[in-house]
Amino acid sequence: MTADEDYFALLDRAKEQLPEVAESHERFSIPELEILQEGKMTVIRNFIDVTDTLRRDPQHVLQFLLRELGTPGNLEGRRVVLKSKISAGHITDKIQNYTDTFVICSECGRPDTKMVKEGRTLVLECEACGAHRPVNVKKGVRSDSVNALKEGDIIDVFISDVGKKGDGIGKMMDFIVIVPGTVKGTTVRVKITNVSAKTAFGALTTEAATR
Ligand SMILES: [Zn+2]
Repeated sequence: MTADEDYFALLDRAKEQLPEVAESHERFSIPELEILQEGKMTVIRNFIDVTDTLRRDPQHVLQFLLRELGTPGNLEGRRVVLKSKISAGHITDKIQNYTDTFVICSECGRPDTKMVKEGRTLVLECEACGAHRPVNVKKGVRSDSVNALKEGDIIDVFISDVGKKGDGIGKMMDFIVIVPGTVKGTTVRVKITNVSAKTAFGALTTEAATR
């Protein structure tokens, strides 16, 4: 037995001795948001803790949030910085909406789901009960538009890397966004000029962000 196997055997034995409550079906709870107002900005300090709990791509959650709250904002490390003053209650409501729409299984109410794309349809697959159904997106929320970049979108993107040709590279949802003439470590406003598969090209702009 390797040290790892030893450890897992031990863990299994420990679990057997736990009372049944470990398997309880309490209502899924999202970590309480740590929200700070800093001047005209609002910071969600534990954003990544929330998306880890939801097991969703932070960029997907962020794009939903920005669209619903109607504010620009960025992911910075484990925090999100929103460039408007927004109440904690309002943000919490939107995170709850996201959870109800994109995480909770409509059949069994459990959060143990995976979001998969089938063609243009977002499907929630439930690992608890096996349900498999399209995400039930409420009026006003378009799953395809929260989930995909398209030409003409104006976004704020954090340049996290530099490519071989010296172009800045950022990430937005599932997309790599390539922006010539930018510097690593900066956040820039970009108009998407071309989207192919999972790569988008953008040009610097001063127009208002559209998402
Ligand atoms: Zn289910």
